[in-house]
Amino acid sequence: MLALNNIGHLVTNDPAIGNGPLGIINNAGLVADDDGKIVWCGPQDQIDQYTEAQPIGCDGCAIIPGFVDSHTHIVFAGDRAQEFEARMEGLPYAAGGIQSTMMATRAASDELLSLNAQHLAYEALCSGTTTLEVKSGYGLSVKDEERSMRIARTVTTETTFLGAHLYPTDVDQEDYVDLVVGEMLNACLPHAKWIDVFCDRGAFDVDQSREILKAGAKAGLGTRIHANQLQKGGGVQLGVELGVASCDHCTHLTEKDIEALSSANKTTVATLLPAAELCTRSPFPHARHMIEQGVTIALATDCNPGSSYTTSMPFVMSLAVILMGMTPDQALWSSTQGGAQALRRTDIGNLCAGSRADLVVMDAPSHIHLAYRPGVNQTRAVVRGGKCVVGAL
Ligand SMILES: [Zn+2]
Repeated sequence: MLALNNIGHLVTNDPAIGNGPLGIINNAGLVADDDGKIVWCGPQDQIDQYTEAQPIGCDGCAIIPGFVDSHTHIVFAGDRAQEFEARMEGLPYAAGGIQSTMMATRAASDELLSLNAQHLAYEALCSGTTTLEVKSGYGLSVKDEERSMRIARTVTTETTFLGAHLYPTDVDQEDYVDLVVGEMLNACLPHAKWIDVFCDRGAFDVDQSREILKAGAKAGLGTRIHANQLQKGGGVQLGVELGVASCDHCTHLTEKDIEALSSANKTTVATLLPAAELCTRSPFPHARHMIEQGVTIALATDCNPGSSYTTSMPFVMSLAVILMGMTPDQALWSSTQGGAQALRRTDIGNLCAGSRADLVVMDAPSHIHLAYRPGVNQTRAVVRGGKCVVGAL
């Protein structure tokens, strides 16, 4: 049982119980049961009707739903600080850098890979991420992808098989697609919920991506796609055609791509990863235009050692607001409910009765401070499944 009151600004993401699209309740209370589910939230003077426990006061702080980071690659070894340095000196970003992480990952022990993934998952939790999607994709052999998926599964239930991240240099390209849809898929299946493919220049083309995603879907996995990161291409259209849960990156879109995403906005989310654009000095997608056209948007970190080595959703929100034209309300929605939709979950990303009590108590009076104070840790406490797991209440 968890009972909180004196919440100055509670974001529920349920317009039916609060003000505006974020369903904000001022001077609110919240009650969760022993199973870690929300029983009630509303005006604090009604809290006695829902609990006999003495509520914990929140000193007028803001509370938001825990962040849902629906795109990370945190199973890897080594780092790419030197590649980053070279890029900052003027070299362009290219997909081939994944090979160096592949070699470091293959050479690492299970223990080291697990520790690294757990460390990054904890780092994310400390900034308020209560649900994390984790992809494989740095093993690129049957044995190493299976191992990456097994380790990913120890940090989250939202695991994604990304054997089709890049071609390893030691295998013929067509042979590699056969391997991904055959032996590798079978080996990874027990640990996977999703399948993903990097459909872009220097990675997999549209036909190969279709074959890979269809094989995953046939095996019972949900589908998602890395699309249109490096250039305009058919990735987004393919994602919409196949009804994937999310088309991720969407950096280079045509109006036709935006139309396709808009027409599929109930099934396919566009997940934007502005930290990747920032760290590769790429142009930012026009998030505001996409929203105006009716596209549903999620925000995520893309945490990986090459192009976006951050676990911070508040930082991503700052980028989305300051550089992509999203409003603070839109950025918060996309970092919580949008992420949940990208994972096809309704029990997270909001603070409605029946949802998981995953929330962040902020050292700030409102969610606007998340984007307004870039790079500043404003997390006072993080609650997951009704239990305080970071900081203190
Ligand atoms: Zn990615």
